[in-house]
Amino acid sequence: MTDGKTNFINGEWVASQGGATFASTNPANTDQTLGVYARSDQRDVAAAVAAAKAAYPTWRKTPAPARGALLTKVGRLLEERKELFSQAMVDEMGKVLVEARGDVQEAIDMAHYMAAFGRLPNGSVVPSERPDIHCSARRVPVGVVGLITPWNFPIAVPTWKMFPALLAGNTVVWKPAEDTPGMAVLLVQLLADAGIPAGVVNLVTGYGEEAGAALVEAEGVATISFTGSTSVGKQIAGRCGQLMKRVSCELGGKNAIVVLDDADIELAIKGCLWSAFGTAGQRCTAASRLIVDSKIKAHFTARLVEETGKLRMAPGADPAAQIGPVVNRTQLERIQGYVAIGQAEGATVLTGGTPLTDAPLDKGCFYAPTIFDNMRPPMRIAQEEIFGPVTGIITVDGLDEALAIANGTGYGLSLSLYTANLRRGMRALDELESGIVYINLPTSGAEIQLPFGGVKNTGNGHREAGWMAMDWCTEWKAAYINY
Ligand code: NAD
Repeated sequence: MTDGKTNFINGEWVASQGGATFASTNPANTDQTLGVYARSDQRDVAAAVAAAKAAYPTWRKTPAPARGALLTKVGRLLEERKELFSQAMVDEMGKVLVEARGDVQEAIDMAHYMAAFGRLPNGSVVPSERPDIHCSARRVPVGVVGLITPWNFPIAVPTWKMFPALLAGNTVVWKPAEDTPGMAVLLVQLLADAGIPAGVVNLVTGYGEEAGAALVEAEGVATISFTGSTSVGKQIAGRCGQLMKRVSCELGGKNAIVVLDDADIELAIKGCLWSAFGTAGQRCTAASRLIVDSKIKAHFTARLVEETGKLRMAPGADPAAQIGPVVNRTQLERIQGYVAIGQAEGATVLTGGTPLTDAPLDKGCFYAPTIFDNMRPPMRIAQEEIFGPVTGIITVDGLDEALAIANGTGYGLSLSLYTANLRRGMRALDELESGIVYINLPTSGAEIQLPFGGVKNTGNGHREAGWMAMDWCTEWKAAYINY
């Protein structure tokens, strides 16, 4: 249990200046309070930004290999504390243990990947049109970066932002999600233990409309990197536009898996189960639309329902758990609301469609994995992000119709197609409108060495991970030297 001193400002753990707090609870048992955290306001954010500004000149001048070496140390400490972090994540946001370990592993991989960037080229020398002129362009840090992050990947998403930003020489103010402040405290304590200098990383816990909005407004913050819902992302991007602040948005998804008539059906079913129900459907890459060719639909549907029935729902701490709770009661009600909307729109529930109310799951926020049949593209359940263990089957005839429907939403994060035909797969790769395309793989399962992000309402063009991760947190500086 924490005591509310959960803001980390200039290397010190402090309470919010106004003394306000909020609690976090275990979604597998909402009677269990896990901790009490600082509910920060504009004053706390201003103090954190001042600390980050003061630390910036020295951090920027610290040689990049030394910044990289610190990230190597962070990576090693994360390896040592992987189990501690994973167990805490299970308690705080409900992920099952194996997925929580995967979340922490992504941070470990990112630390080591980014550490290497400290010794890689960060610009280029180009020929000049004139004699004795040296022309070059190099990346430089932007200054203080503000990070605003969601709860569904409470370690991976923040570190995918923070590690590139630190390696590039920026200092950081981080506002984590209100559902996962405990994970943020663990990570920032680890950074302090690794020897991160005071002021280089600052943490303000609290609510989005208070601390998050204050960070967006704060003078001295050069860039906001936001991951979360499209509605909040649009608000933040609009405000950053007015303030002439750089902004990077990683937002929602309405991802689909296409299963063609020549697909390996068992492989596709495995992919659909993982994509639709992993992390209880609370992933930006979750597949909430299954676009299935009419020739195989009956067999595919029967097998999918059969396999869904075998999934074990239990608190994430149970080693046999395959699906844990959703993050909180509000989310549970939202999911129930979408299921009712789907039924009213004419879709039929094949399995699931209710919260689980038998003990001991009744103490938590458990929703049965749900499959709709007769989903049609214009329905709200086929267009809006549900963010729960709910998916639906849309029946199509052939590749042309499948691709048109897969592309027919306002989002563009992750799309997948199962086929045994290479030519069909390559056409899908060309024509699917999303930041990530999978062929014969689920819609979730990104590797850190490739760019991650989406198009349309999923983002504003930036990518996290891969070598492109440096783009949002650096500026290009061109230089002409007359010798
Ligand atoms: P959310 O938008 O409610 O909150 C995200 C963060 O923004 C939280 O820290 C919250 O406190 C803060 N926030 C809320 N209102 C704010 C405001 N007015 N000003 C500033 N900050 C504010 O999202 P969530 O429910 O935490 O996360 C789920 C969403 O995140 C889903 O839509 C999911 O698809 C998306 N997501 C996207 C990616 C991606 O990479 N594209 C990855 C993970 C999650």
